[in-house]
Amino acid sequence: MSKFGKHDFTGKTVVLTGAGGVLVSTFSEAFAQLGANVALLDLNREAAQSVADKINQNNPNQAKAYECNVLEKESLKAVNEQIKADFGPCDILINGAGGNNPKATTDNEFHSEDLDKEVKSFFNLEETGIEFVFNLNFLGTLLPTQVFAKEMIGRPGANIINISSMNALTPLTKIPAYSGAKAAISNLTQWLAVHFSKVGIRCNAIAPGFLVSKQNIDLLFEADHETLSPRGEKIINNTPMGRFGKAEELVGGILFLADETAASFVNGVIIAIDGGFSAYSGV
Ligand code: NAD
Repeated sequence: MSKFGKHDFTGKTVVLTGAGGVLVSTFSEAFAQLGANVALLDLNREAAQSVADKINQNNPNQAKAYECNVLEKESLKAVNEQIKADFGPCDILINGAGGNNPKATTDNEFHSEDLDKEVKSFFNLEETGIEFVFNLNFLGTLLPTQVFAKEMIGRPGANIINISSMNALTPLTKIPAYSGAKAAISNLTQWLAVHFSKVGIRCNAIAPGFLVSKQNIDLLFEADHETLSPRGEKIINNTPMGRFGKAEELVGGILFLADETAASFVNGVIIAIDGGFSAYSGV
């Protein structure tokens, strides 16, 4: 039995966006080990290709990398045609591309009247940064769903999984655009679950707690990447399990939601996988 349990995705085509990244590459490996053909979409072709190469070493011909921008419908449509030719239509869509950007992040947690001029406050955030983050997360989930879900209709077990965040429940300081965009992802997840409920496509999400990755390492650690930053320390103090999570620890939730037998009546939920962060008031 695979270390990921008894799920069986043999013959399924799983399309994963952001597949060159930390989390989705881990999900991709798990799906391939459980029999799926995995279509790895990423803006960064090299990153997706190296994930595909690694998967194909153990599961020959089960992974293929596709360069694709989740913000360009034509790019998504062209890739959909290639995937259909390579593996057949999409059965399971994992909308994993997303993230924050420094341009949409304030330097300060709280506003005060005596801020240094150099501080990037809420009032200095530029529309372009806000727009970039909002679009990447929200439109970057909506557009792939428009392109892939059409042909998922009528396919047994078809489902979509989005990636929300702790920010969707209570916004974190400094990152208003990312927080708002992830709240919108949770909302869209419920909307899609209802919208597609009569045509057999389930839609759910996971809301990961705090994991260390490229996009947040500079927020969680000092420059040495070993000493916790004051923010990293606060997070650990508010995570009852007292540690950051690992990408592998999200896999069980993803596979459960994707499994048409285990989760056949699960629709419109956002599963927090967070070491207890969202359950803890801090007291
Ligand atoms: P990552 O930065 O490691 O990977 C993101 C991938 O998306 C990258 O490979 C990047 O090239 C790709 N990408 C960026 N823009 C794209 C575009 N326009 N089109 C196609 N691909 C694009 O991030 P990650 O940590 O693996 O995060 C994956 C998802 O999980 C994101 O939605 C993120 O917001 C969410 N998330 C992450 C954490 C965490 O702690 N890592 C926590 C909560 C939620």
